[in-house]
Amino acid sequence: MGDLFYSRDTGLQGRGGVGGISRSAGINDEYAALVGAMFLEEKVAPFNLVYFFKGDSIAHHKGLDAQREYVATLDAYVAGMFEAAGGEEKLLEEYAVIALADHGHTPLLTNKRRYIHLGRILGEGTSVGARAGFGPGVEVVAVPNGRSALLYLPEGAPDEDREALVEKVLSRRGIDVAAWSDGEWAVARRAGKELWFRPDEGGDAPRDAAGRRWEISGDPTALEIEVLEGEILYGEYPDALERLWGCVRSERCGDVVLSASPGYTFGEVSGKFHVESDHGSLHASDSNVFVIAAGLPEGMEVPRRITDVAPALLEHFEGGPPTLSGVAERRVS
Ligand SMILES: [Zn+2]
Repeated sequence: MGDLFYSRDTGLQGRGGVGGISRSAGINDEYAALVGAMFLEEKVAPFNLVYFFKGDSIAHHKGLDAQREYVATLDAYVAGMFEAAGGEEKLLEEYAVIALADHGHTPLLTNKRRYIHLGRILGEGTSVGARAGFGPGVEVVAVPNGRSALLYLPEGAPDEDREALVEKVLSRRGIDVAAWSDGEWAVARRAGKELWFRPDEGGDAPRDAAGRRWEISGDPTALEIEVLEGEILYGEYPDALERLWGCVRSERCGDVVLSASPGYTFGEVSGKFHVESDHGSLHASDSNVFVIAAGLPEGMEVPRRITDVAPALLEHFEGGPPTLSGVAERRVS
């Protein structure tokens, strides 16, 4: 993070700081590493979070090979932090370390087809961009977000309008999955196949790897799901049910959520799009992330999903998991 705090002069921010005043006001990996090292050296907190952002931007603009090279720089930053804590052994005596990516990246096609221009596909009556919204003549609001996109219909629009919209977009190259909420169910459609699903609390429906049971109806191959002896096995769409359920049931989700095929992107709200690689889809190519852990206390499992990290930490620090879905209601004091 560029500037975690300004309450103390670390000697690292400001005009004379790392990268000068302009760099210190933004996101800056070197600054993050130096502040992280300072925290460890001074043992200021039982928990430290250091976020390196630049690998993402390098991948977007220069591609995955350039990002891999940058990992060597990050490695040196982490080494500096370990050193500040008194060396690897000492650090692992006092802290557990979890290193993980917050998302993956998938390379984009090298030609201009990589960009799925929703405004053009949906045509007249579509509002898209930073100032998108409903007004006279607007039938759909489209919000691109990298390799996913949200489509909004006017309040109270009939189901037929959503169906027409889904049919229209799924016929276009590069648009892989469409999903939406229907009554008590979530629905996903891909390659002409449709799957209906919802959590089965306390029932005996098939179970995913995280232990959650799902009532499913329709064609599981719509999401490359296989059900084997009561277990849900995922193919190219990891943890698809949990992720789609969380998305389509959240209050601010669009009436339809879209996921792009590998190689394609919906671009940004600004109207621009990344050229080398992008992320945000349901597909494994940008969903899978690495996680490395060392020094975990006995009984603590390595988090297997990004969403498992916060509950694992809260449990470790005895705060318990947040009670409000999506928003932390209580905080660890
Ligand atoms: Zn990114």
